[in-house]
Amino acid sequence: MRGYGVHFMKKIPLHIRIFIGMFLGIVLGLVSIFLHWGPFISDWIKPFGTIFINLLKLIAIPLILVSLISGVSNLKDISKLSRIGGKTISFYLVTTVIAIIVGLIAVNTIKPGNFLSKEKQVELSEKYAKDVNLKVTDAQKLKESGPLQVIVDIVPENIFGSMGSNRNMLQVIFFAIMFGIALIMVPEQKGIYVKGFFDGVNEVILKIVDIVMHYSPVGVFALIGALIVDFAGDDPKQALELFRALGVYAITVLLSLAAMILVIYPLFMRMFTHIKYKQFLKGIIPAQIMAFSTSSSAATLPVTMECAEKNLGIKEEITSFVLPLGATINMDGTSIHQAVTAVFIAQAFGHDLTIADQLMIIFTATLSSIGAAAVPSAGLITLVIVLGAIGVSPEGLALIIAIDRPLDMCRTIVNVTGDTVVASIVATTEDGFRKEPAMN
Ligand code: ASP
Repeated sequence: MRGYGVHFMKKIPLHIRIFIGMFLGIVLGLVSIFLHWGPFISDWIKPFGTIFINLLKLIAIPLILVSLISGVSNLKDISKLSRIGGKTISFYLVTTVIAIIVGLIAVNTIKPGNFLSKEKQVELSEKYAKDVNLKVTDAQKLKESGPLQVIVDIVPENIFGSMGSNRNMLQVIFFAIMFGIALIMVPEQKGIYVKGFFDGVNEVILKIVDIVMHYSPVGVFALIGALIVDFAGDDPKQALELFRALGVYAITVLLSLAAMILVIYPLFMRMFTHIKYKQFLKGIIPAQIMAFSTSSSAATLPVTMECAEKNLGIKEEITSFVLPLGATINMDGTSIHQAVTAVFIAQAFGHDLTIADQLMIIFTATLSSIGAAAVPSAGLITLVIVLGAIGVSPEGLALIIAIDRPLDMCRTIVNVTGDTVVASIVATTEDGFRKEPAMN
């Protein structure tokens, strides 16, 4: 009987199992609030979510390092690499700038900041100033080091130091690309064993990803259940006025994010690929759910790669280069969030923005979304660069910090979707599909 049950579960596609996990997690969370199961959930359910996130984080750095080295060196010649690299980075930049413009249009039209009275602004920034301090000190450092620091930080002084933290993923990417390029450049006889080694390790790591993914429905169940219970702990007496302004702000962010998924990406897919957008979305749903539950493009990366390869049929030589790079530098959702939030805070503080300020937002939000690590709340920290550039106090972050997490979950979906859109485009122009992608 039990054997039959396991067999039956295995027959259900993974993304459905993840959905079931998510649904059960929501039910558990809601039931727990009414039955006051908070301590039980955090002692006995939450740890399974933490184990799942740890497993994903655990494979992030080895996956990036090995898949990029193997991916770059499989490109065989430098001209192919620079062609794919050029295309990838151009599409990443274009989509990011479009995302920011979408956000700016939405926030300047809806004007969520005007839903807040002056007294409330003062009261709130005083109230949240303490919470925000830690993040602000971090972010302040970032701001003081100048706008090009983002680029300086890409070049590590010690690769083992970089591999010590998932926040330094861009440095690991830099090293892996350099290593891969050098591997192409050494005589084939000398590089053959090194290449064989990395190709082999790559297979092993992808197998680990497979194993971890089987555990994902349980992980998602635990994560969502615990998150709902944690949210309920929020002070329910917060002023209605704040709720209204924050609600409108959140809707503005969500509408802009939705515009990317429902309008901009379909247009790009239509113009540059033959993949039906519905089919595309169906293929990447596991990655989107994972992005939503982990709020981290880095933690989602293994799933994103698996979806792109298995469901969309994109060749590994494309995914292994485009997706790790995208997880780290291409964050359309984060850049939308930065634009909307910067303007919202400026509006809430009664600070009028000029056209020059708005252009400045486009420039700095691009840089700071590139610089944001692919981990939860990273965008919140780099937002200070944008606020600083338009002369708005970073204390303004206090206004939005309480609702950042759900928005982070949603912007991470867009971050991951944007990466797979570009991967599909690059694959189309490079004959990069393993098999014909499903067309109906
Ligand atoms: N959580 C986002 C990501 O990992 C980054 C951010 O916007 O905070 O993609």
